[in-house]
Amino acid sequence: MPSQTKQQPISLKMTLKPEIKLTKRNYYSHHSDLVYMSATWFKRFEACEAAAWDLLQNPVEETSTALLVGNFVHSNYESQQAHAAFIKEHESEINTRNGTLRAPFEQAETMIDRLNKFDEFMYFYNSPECKKEAIVTGQLFGVNWKAKLDSLNVEKGYFCDLKTTKDMHQTFYNPETHRYDRPWFDEYNYGLQMAAYKKLLQLKYHKPFKCYVFAVDKTKSPAVEAIEFDMKRFEKGLGEIELYQPRLMDVLSEKEAPIRCEHCDFCKSTYEPFGFKSVDDLVNEKYT
Ligand SMILES: [Zn+2]
Repeated sequence: MPSQTKQQPISLKMTLKPEIKLTKRNYYSHHSDLVYMSATWFKRFEACEAAAWDLLQNPVEETSTALLVGNFVHSNYESQQAHAAFIKEHESEINTRNGTLRAPFEQAETMIDRLNKFDEFMYFYNSPECKKEAIVTGQLFGVNWKAKLDSLNVEKGYFCDLKTTKDMHQTFYNPETHRYDRPWFDEYNYGLQMAAYKKLLQLKYHKPFKCYVFAVDKTKSPAVEAIEFDMKRFEKGLGEIELYQPRLMDVLSEKEAPIRCEHCDFCKSTYEPFGFKSVDDLVNEKYT
């Protein structure tokens, strides 16, 4: 039997006036995750409520190499100090014992070199007018939200997001068309994230904002792209928040039990078969 972790009740404050002011230091804190919703947590709950609920109660620092590579590239454009501090903090993951870069971070350097030669990126994202890692908060459909924008230009009315992706033209299975024609942008639901950011900015500054996504991939010779976020995905993203958020608040305030997806690592690791299934059940489950 898996040992039961003792669960502390979460005191949820997401619909009340926020009791803490967000700063760079407390942005990712557990406390701030209980006061503000974020695109990351919203998507986690959409994917599997049971796994997200468990993670919210027992937070662990995510340290996947893909995440560190992304942060390595981002911090390079935040400031020299931020980049140096990030490298110092993750010294053993980034450097070998001989002091040379480990392979994924050599690749990250190649991506940075490519971005440095990308004029449109340097002009929009890396303009001296832009504020990097800008924290924005506000209410979306009655719930406190927080966002950290990679690069924000309030004066000119735009914000940029930098995505590091595996392969620029990678596509995924699309259940609507039954073909592998789903862009990585939709597969990871970046539309929901961008929609939340755009709406929060518009609420705060009372003016429209454009959203530019700059992407760099992790292929040997990294591809780069500049993408303008479209209205169709903006509306779809906001609609998804409006539709699912009431249920999410019920789960967080323990009015509703979190639903298990039965596919993710958490569900697999806590699954306890009851009785016996038929062989056909296994096939049927795959398609439900
Ligand atoms: Zn699950």
